[in-house]
Amino acid sequence: MKRKTKLIHGGISTDPATGAVSFPIYQVSTYKQEGVGGHKGYEYSRTGNPTRFALEELIKDLEGGHAGFAFGSGMAAMTAVMMLFNSGDHVILTDDVYGGSFRVMTKVLNRLGIDSTFVDTSNLDAIGSAIKPNTKAIHLETPTNPLLKITDIEEVAKLAKEHGLLTIVDNTFSTPYWQNPIEFGADIVLHSATKYLGGHSDVVAGLAVVNSKQLAEELHFVQNSTGGVLGPQDSWLLIRGIKTLGIRMEETEKNTAAIVDFLQGHSKVMKIFYPGLETHPNHIVAKKQVRGFGGMVSFDVGSAENADKLLSKIHYFTLAESLGAVESLISVPARMTHASIPIERRAELGITEGLVRISVGLEDVDDLIDDLNQALE
Ligand SMILES: *Cc1c(COP(=O)(O)O)cnc(C)c1O
Repeated sequence: MKRKTKLIHGGISTDPATGAVSFPIYQVSTYKQEGVGGHKGYEYSRTGNPTRFALEELIKDLEGGHAGFAFGSGMAAMTAVMMLFNSGDHVILTDDVYGGSFRVMTKVLNRLGIDSTFVDTSNLDAIGSAIKPNTKAIHLETPTNPLLKITDIEEVAKLAKEHGLLTIVDNTFSTPYWQNPIEFGADIVLHSATKYLGGHSDVVAGLAVVNSKQLAEELHFVQNSTGGVLGPQDSWLLIRGIKTLGIRMEETEKNTAAIVDFLQGHSKVMKIFYPGLETHPNHIVAKKQVRGFGGMVSFDVGSAENADKLLSKIHYFTLAESLGAVESLISVPARMTHASIPIERRAELGITEGLVRISVGLEDVDDLIDDLNQALE
């Protein structure tokens, strides 16, 4: 099955009970048993729900893994994955990881004895020197947010295997349409499905896919024990969103290429971060592992003041956190999504006050470019 077909026919696309072509929303908590323990595969909806299961099967197919799991948010998915580890374990993560991922590692999971180190994972030596006897996993985000750094998944997974570590990849930015980390040796793939998978700014959800039976059993145990599951209504919204992921990503790619081209020629734009640019330091690695570069672009306008001027004039880019929806969004990471990262760390990473991040949507690209042009002037 080709990718666009799989988005529509993957998983359990039709309800086996009724033939309904849109998988039904099983709005139910419990299931009648014919005798004690005699059920049809479902006992209680925290443990399993048919609509959630249809979504979990779909994301499993899309990522080419062994099993999928749906959670109430991307952070709930990540936390559940970290619950595979024990007190005293250590995890290495990408340094400009999503702000919420940094926060859960350094303010919540640290209290439970799960230790973390943040390194530039695009540098294999930096990962190597961070590995300790108690290291259990390497968590990558590629491309990263907001600097669009790229990590070579295959090389990291190789290094991880040599040391008996799990490779976890947050695939939110690329989506399974453009990048499949399991193909390159990753063990676990995470998604904030709130973004491109949902695609319409109307649902908060998280997904995880694991590549082995053992990890599937362990993660299902955590999911059922800690209970951060996705409800049936939101599971259905995601299934619906995913059907159009292919055409949305293709169109986003075209719009983004045109916008990057425009930004490159603009005198008020100091620096552009986009992995599709040949001048991007990891462009070659990106080309190896992604089929598309995505709709996220960051650029530096020099100062907080310039960023504020741009924001006050822009019409079609909505000032908001989040990304990956039909509407174009704009944000200033230093004061929004990455505000929870201490200022010294932001400076180290290069998340400057003048850095503006856009998530390119599906409006007519001529309108988007005109809008950026008048706001930059
Ligand atoms: C948004 C996001 C998350 C967190 O997901 P939520 O659904 O907001 O909990 C994690 N990783 C990345 C890369 C994100 O963009």
